[in-house]
Amino acid sequence: MNFDVARRRMVESQIISRGVKDRRLIEAMLKVPRHVFVEEAMAAQAYSDTPLPIGEKQTISQPFMVALMTELLELAGKEKVLEIGTGSGYQAAILATLADRVYTVERIRPLALRARKALDSLGLLNVNIKIADGTLGWEEEAPFDAIIVTAGAPEIPDKLLDQLGPGGRLVIPVGTQFEQVLVRIVKRDDGSLVKEQVTGCRFVKLVGRFGWSAED
Ligand code: SAH
Repeated sequence: MNFDVARRRMVESQIISRGVKDRRLIEAMLKVPRHVFVEEAMAAQAYSDTPLPIGEKQTISQPFMVALMTELLELAGKEKVLEIGTGSGYQAAILATLADRVYTVERIRPLALRARKALDSLGLLNVNIKIADGTLGWEEEAPFDAIIVTAGAPEIPDKLLDQLGPGGRLVIPVGTQFEQVLVRIVKRDDGSLVKEQVTGCRFVKLVGRFGWSAED
């Protein structure tokens, strides 16, 4: 399997052909080796047009969903970004390539540790990982220029809105445990919020104080 060829095909047929325009994002998706973020047995499928299991009943998102959500964050290079739901670490790697610093929170320890290893192996040292409930955000490091939640939330956690800086963008799937709407919120400089519904989507559930309970 030639991963470079598979990755180029993925970017052309799944990302560019579906309307993603951000040049830097396209370059990042051509560069970051997605197969490093899945288990070895699954490496051959790493560039398929689908989410994949990563253990602990969690998934690495479909490549197009990663691209779409990232494009909505409008990263230019200097941003401090918060991600909730590190999972495999792939989304964090894309963010780390496009922004200055990434803070990512994962509640399941073995996933966080595996993500750390994968990110280190690629020399992506501008990613900080915390094992915690991300529905509380990352208070000590706020405010953030951009926040991305990669698990489905019953509602938008207030703490995340609080930790979004002026002009900041928040992207989050909101809905039931089975289907959500991808929502983007922009915090204007005067603190008011502009909300936009982007598309239907389906994520694993956000579990925490301001999310779903683990047993739901
Ligand atoms: N961004 C990931 C996708 C991970 S799937 C990637 O690129 O692979 C969603 C992840 O969110 C899961 O790993 C899940 O454990 C995590 N998660 C769910 N609720 C969370 C919470 N409250 N805080 C932190 N992580 C959470």
